[in-house]
Amino acid sequence: MESRIERIKKQLHGASYKLTPQREATVMVLLENEADHLSAEDVFLLVKEKAPEIGLATVYRTLELLTELKVVNKINFGDGVARYDLRKEGAARFHHHLICIECGAVDEIQEDLLGEVEKVVEKRFGFTVKDHWLTFHGICKRCKSEGDTKGK
Ligand SMILES: [Zn+2]
Ligand SMILES: [Zn+2]
Repeated sequence: MESRIERIKKQLHGASYKLTPQREATVMVLLENEADHLSAEDVFLLVKEKAPEIGLATVYRTLELLTELKVVNKINFGDGVARYDLRKEGAARFHHHLICIECGAVDEIQEDLLGEVEKVVEKRFGFTVKDHWLTFHGICKRCKSEGDTKGK
């Protein structure tokens, strides 16, 4: 079976870009930390462990390229920090996020819950939906169960 990195390599080739060793190291860091929402600096520090000669500017350019090719989405959770999040392969829509206002954890919902909402938007506003980003702010179940044991 073709690996994810191979398919990303093909995507780059399709857009006339090469998967250079620096780009590959950057993609590998994103794949290895898929559950996280890394900033450019976070990615840079992890890539540096694999490719010590790499500079922040190169990592930054690679992340911008991957954003353009829709391999990743550049997101902002309201703290002013741009983060890079891999899109799930074959997903028509970006996944949803749950942000805990107590511990700051970011969880993902891969299941798309907005099919009905999109239908309403298309019908009522004559707007063709291509994608959507949805972020919920609240208290995660881990913080809630902690509250329970503390007898809150
Ligand atoms: Zn995410
Ligand atoms: Zn929490």
